[in-house]
Amino acid sequence: MKIRERVGLTFDDVLLVPKHSAIASRKTIRTDTWLTPQIQLAIPIVSANMDTVTESEMAIAMARAGGIGILHRFMTIQQQAEMVQRVKRAESFIVEHPLTISPDTPLQDAKQIMKDSDIGGLVVTDSDKHLLGILTTRDILLAPSLDTPVERAMTPRDKLIVAHANEPLSQARATLYEHRIEKLPLVDEENHIVGLVTAQDIIKIQEHPQATKDQKGRLRVGAAIGVTPSDLSRAKACVEAEVDVLVVDVAHGHMDTVIAMVKKLKRDFPSLPVIAGNVATAEGVEDLARAGADAVKVGVGSGSICITRIVTGFGVPQLTAIAECAEAGSRLGVPIIADGGIRNSGDITKALAAGASTVMLGSLLSGTKESPGATIFRNGQNYKVVRGMASLTANIARREIERQSEIDWDEWSDVIPEGVEAVVPYRGTLHEVLHQLLGGLRSGMSYCGAATLPELVEKAEFIQITRSGQIESGVHDVTVL
Ligand code: 5GP
Repeated sequence: MKIRERVGLTFDDVLLVPKHSAIASRKTIRTDTWLTPQIQLAIPIVSANMDTVTESEMAIAMARAGGIGILHRFMTIQQQAEMVQRVKRAESFIVEHPLTISPDTPLQDAKQIMKDSDIGGLVVTDSDKHLLGILTTRDILLAPSLDTPVERAMTPRDKLIVAHANEPLSQARATLYEHRIEKLPLVDEENHIVGLVTAQDIIKIQEHPQATKDQKGRLRVGAAIGVTPSDLSRAKACVEAEVDVLVVDVAHGHMDTVIAMVKKLKRDFPSLPVIAGNVATAEGVEDLARAGADAVKVGVGSGSICITRIVTGFGVPQLTAIAECAEAGSRLGVPIIADGGIRNSGDITKALAAGASTVMLGSLLSGTKESPGATIFRNGQNYKVVRGMASLTANIARREIERQSEIDWDEWSDVIPEGVEAVVPYRGTLHEVLHQLLGGLRSGMSYCGAATLPELVEKAEFIQITRSGQIESGVHDVTVL
C-alpha cells in the first residue's frame, strides 16, 4: 500500500496564529487579487457554476461587488450565450451596439424584447440603421393598445437630444443632466446610430466603484463548459457573446480530456483566459498549467452538497489540497481558486492564507436573493434549494437538455449520483452576505497584521488543533438565544 506521509488537513483542523499587527483600521485593508493573470478582482470571491447559484442575476451582482460569477453549463448553448450577453449588456461606459427595432414593430413585441433583454429602452431605426427615435418602457406603460406600431409611441428623432460618436463620458453626463434625459444616442454625420449613453450606466459606475469590468466598462463574467465535442460549440457561442473567461469544469479535472480541451481553447481563442479543474494535487496543477490553463480550480469532494468521497473513496482534505496546489501554482504563475467546503469567513481567510488567490462559493451564496430558483416557505422560515451538479435530479435535467426530451423512468436508476439536493436558509441579498464575509476576512487579515492578501500568505502561520480545540473554537457551555 502506498500512503502519503503528510496528514491531510481541512479548515476545522487548524487555526491561524495571531501575529503582531500595525493595522489601525480594517478599512485600510485591501482584498484585491487575481482570478487569472489577466483578470483582477477587488474581492477574492467567485460564485460557483451551479444551477442553484450562478445565472445572470448572480453574475451581475457578483461583478458589481468586485468579484465574478461563473455561469453554469446545465442549460442549452443558446441559453448560456444569452446569459453572457445579459451580463455584458447590464452596464457599460457606452452601449456600443444598442438593441434596435423597426418603427412598424408592434408595441407588444417591443415590450417583450425589453423584458427578455432586461433593458429599459430600444433604439428605433430604419433598415440602414438611421436613427428614427427612442422607445422606453415609460412610453409603453399607458399605451391604449399594444398592437400599435412603435413609431406612434416613440420619441421621434426631431425631439431627441443626440451627441456625436466620440462624445467624452463627462460631456455626455453633463448633457444628460442638462436636459434631464435618461438616454443619449450617439450618431455619426449621416445619422447612423453608433452608440448609446444611459444615465443608469453612469449612476451604476458611481454606485459600484469596485465593480469588475472590462476595458469598455462592461461587467465581467465567466462561463463553465465541459469536455465533450459540443462543448467546443458552447465555448464558441460564449466567446461570440464576449465572455471574459471560460472555465473547463469537471469533477475530476486531472484527465487527458480536460488537458486536450484546454489546449484546444488556447489554440482557438489565444487571448481568452481559461480556468480548468478540479484537481487536488500539485501534479494536477502542473499538467493543467502546462496545457495552458491560466488558473486552476482546486477541490475534489470538498463541496457541501458533494458525496464523491463517500461514493468513490477519493479526495484530499481541502486545506492540504489548497496548500499543495498553491505551492505549485505560485511556481508556475498560475493562481489557485479554492473551490468547495467554505462555510464561513474564517474558512475564506484560511483558504487565502494557505495560498489560494480566490475562493469559489456554492451553498454559502445559494441562499441569497440573487441565486436562481424560488424561495420555499417551510416550518415558519424561508429556504432556497441548492443541489450538487452531480446529484440525481441535476443529472436527469442535464440529459433532458442534451436530448431535448424527457427521460424514461428506468433511466433514473442508471445515474450514480455524486451530489445531493438540499435546502439552505434564505440569507437576504448578496450584498448583505458579502458584507459579513468580507468584514470577517478583513478582521482575520488584521489578526495577521496583513494589509494585503499577498502579505496574508507571507505572514500566516497555521496551528493544527485537536478535537478539544475545535470544541473550544465554537460557542460552548452556553445556550444560544
Ligand atoms: P460549496 O461551496 O457548496 O461547499 O461547494 C461548491 C462546489 O462543490 C462547486 O463549486 C463544485 O466544485 C462542487 N460541486 C457542485 N456540485 C457537486 C456535486 O454534485 N458533486 C461534487 N462532487 N461536487 C460538486
